[in-house]
Amino acid sequence: MVLGMNQKEAAPRTVAILVSTGSIGTQTLDLIARYPNDYVVEALTAASRVDLLAEQARRFKPRFVAIADPGKHNELKAALADLPIEVGAGPQSLIDAAERPTDFVMASIIGAAGLAPTLAAVRRGGAVGLANKECLVCAGALFNAEVRKYKATLLPVDSEHNAIFQVFDFKSSETIEKLILTASGGPFRSKTLAEMKTATPAEAVAHPNWSMGAKISIDSATMMNKGLELIEAYHLFDIPEERIDILVHPQSIIHSMVSYVDGSVLAQLGTPDMRTPIAYALAWPTRIVTPTLRLDLAQVGKLTFEAPDIERFPSLRLAREALRKGGSAPTILNAANEVGVSKFLENKIGFLDIVAIVEETMTQLPLKAPANLDDVISIDREARTTAHRVAGRFAK
Ligand code: NAD
Ligand code: MG
Repeated sequence: MVLGMNQKEAAPRTVAILVSTGSIGTQTLDLIARYPNDYVVEALTAASRVDLLAEQARRFKPRFVAIADPGKHNELKAALADLPIEVGAGPQSLIDAAERPTDFVMASIIGAAGLAPTLAAVRRGGAVGLANKECLVCAGALFNAEVRKYKATLLPVDSEHNAIFQVFDFKSSETIEKLILTASGGPFRSKTLAEMKTATPAEAVAHPNWSMGAKISIDSATMMNKGLELIEAYHLFDIPEERIDILVHPQSIIHSMVSYVDGSVLAQLGTPDMRTPIAYALAWPTRIVTPTLRLDLAQVGKLTFEAPDIERFPSLRLAREALRKGGSAPTILNAANEVGVSKFLENKIGFLDIVAIVEETMTQLPLKAPANLDDVISIDREARTTAHRVAGRFAK
């Protein structure tokens, strides 16, 4: 169990957001804007979007802003010249933002690129809202060891893990039989393999229920998102792989469930809006009012469920295999997937090639046991190099 108990109870809470310009980052600020007396923004960050970051800085008046792209430093400084805000740039500046003394850091960078800043947030020992699932997938046990060592408080933001967090009896975890991760099935839930073969990036990012960044939207279409979430759940809740089920639930109303030894199944429900799990993490251990559409089950009418189809969505098989193998396997799975998704978004490969690249990369690379976080980073790099080479064979 790595989900700690350190969140400061008295308001206001100071917050840093890594990064504030993406889907999770902007929704976090949308909530904070509603509670000007309860949250003080200490640091805001972006990869390269100067305009939006500057606009956010004018509104929330953080003490520090950082932009990962060093080429944007002067532009950002100029945009904020009239304000008493310290401006940093380059990858290290995101780590600096994470290390500022704050009560809560939202880890909302996409991909393994979020590992170093998220670890910096963990090492300061406070509360970390974990949206960035990829860093837990790629660094797993080593990431958890840092959480324990620095007594950080991890608060799951991913909606499924947040749901489980809300109904997981941490005092009697031996009475938990299973975790049931729900999945919408994504935009291609009912499509044939032949239809998926010719799917375009625009079709694949069009998620039926959730509005999210491009990478996670593609992951939802391949269902690799659920594969990554399986690995994420294993590391967050310490439940073995064979006791984590995946259940397709197209309406995305039940966000996940915990099944107990007495036959009880506890679930968290709500309309699909990330501001609910973000609010739960921001305010934990209390709750705050959110503007999300309230659940009207009479209007929804029907909740349906189906077993996932491993033939059409082989990412689920690969993620289970990676988790069972352990060691470097999840790191390789994640890195190859990031390469596959970006090649698909650039229109260089077909939709089904994303997961084919992951499988081929996993086959080509030997299983290693990373001893430390530097090993994880070098395994991630090696996997990206191999995945790029493999992707060349699939090029359109
Ligand atoms: P997004 O693409 O909207 O935003 C992510 C941001 O990270 C982008 O602005 C991107 O430029 C930035 N980024 C990428 N590489 C970077 C780097 N090297 N340095 C600095 N910034 C970098 O993504 P999102 O949808 O907000 O997702 C963020 C995280 O939250 C992901 O790990 C995702 O899996 C997770 N998540 C998102 C949702 C959602 O609804 N959006 C739901 C559950 C989990
Ligand atoms: Mg999720």
